[in-house]
Amino acid sequence: RGLKMHFPIYAGVFRRHVGDIKAVDDISLDIHESETLGLVGESGCGKSTAGRAVLRLYDITAGSISVDGTDISNVEKEKLRHLRPKMQMIFQDPQASLNPRMTVAGIIGEPLVEHMSLSRSERLERVYELMDAVGLNRAFANRYPHEFSGGQRQRIGIARALALNPKFIVCDEPIAALDVSIQAQVVNLLEDLQERFGLTYLFISHDLSMVRHIADRVAVMYLGKIVELAPRDTLYSAPVHPYTQALLSAVPEPDPVREAERQHIILTGDVPSPSNAPQGCNFCTRCPIAQAICHEVEPEFRQLETGHYAACHLVGNDTKKTGEPTAGEG
Ligand code: SF4
Ligand code: MG
Repeated sequence: RGLKMHFPIYAGVFRRHVGDIKAVDDISLDIHESETLGLVGESGCGKSTAGRAVLRLYDITAGSISVDGTDISNVEKEKLRHLRPKMQMIFQDPQASLNPRMTVAGIIGEPLVEHMSLSRSERLERVYELMDAVGLNRAFANRYPHEFSGGQRQRIGIARALALNPKFIVCDEPIAALDVSIQAQVVNLLEDLQERFGLTYLFISHDLSMVRHIADRVAVMYLGKIVELAPRDTLYSAPVHPYTQALLSAVPEPDPVREAERQHIILTGDVPSPSNAPQGCNFCTRCPIAQAICHEVEPEFRQLETGHYAACHLVGNDTKKTGEPTAGEG
């Protein structure tokens, strides 16, 4: 609720505080048990920072985070350690996130050493189970990360994330570094594991086609804020925020007839710096339909119909702010 992750900027020999990078600037979200919430947006919009903040890999600037009814916003390191097993992360670059000097068994077994008191043989047995679960041959347990392909390395990362039976996993661009031919395999694996172990995912990606495939609901981020949140089908068939519409218009349509009929919205200008966001609506410098008010007043993030939220002055002004579904809305 109201999550902010600001990083101070210091300048000069006296390291004077000259401003803040507002990587995540007041976002509120629920992630429901066993769902996949897609978090999309261009690079630099704050989605990875949001994912890390939710896991409390950072001390947050403001707001609150609850996991399973436990407020973890301000708990200290030692207490977090006990909560860690429940919440894990799968990283974008499997190469960079795996220790090159450790064997696969060592990497997957590391969280077990840290958090569970198992005998050597029990631990190895658990490592084997995890390797089976992610489709890695047990015979490779003593090999090193460099001996594997990118897709296999991501499987190692996934096995490690699963080691402590987590409930919630932040997947940060888990397929972005992989060959296209491998991406679908890894996504299918993540879906299988979700079903099998009752996992909840925050799935961070800039790939809207992939998110459409895997997510139950989708949140769109722009410059540190969530601008639209909706059930998957609603977001893809009836996006209301001009930024979401522009993002979706850039996704190629497989049907050539429909592709020819489609309107492409070309956004001009660059994304402003998160240390210098515009006044009013964050999107006002690039929005094709911006009005005077957009440069002055920040639009409220509000519910338009059940489960569909957006932050735009020109959207759904006739609906009540209480978020009650309005008859005939749409
Ligand atoms: Fe565009 Fe204004 Fe809506 Fe922002 S509030 S998205 S600038 S129309
Ligand atoms: Mg990122």
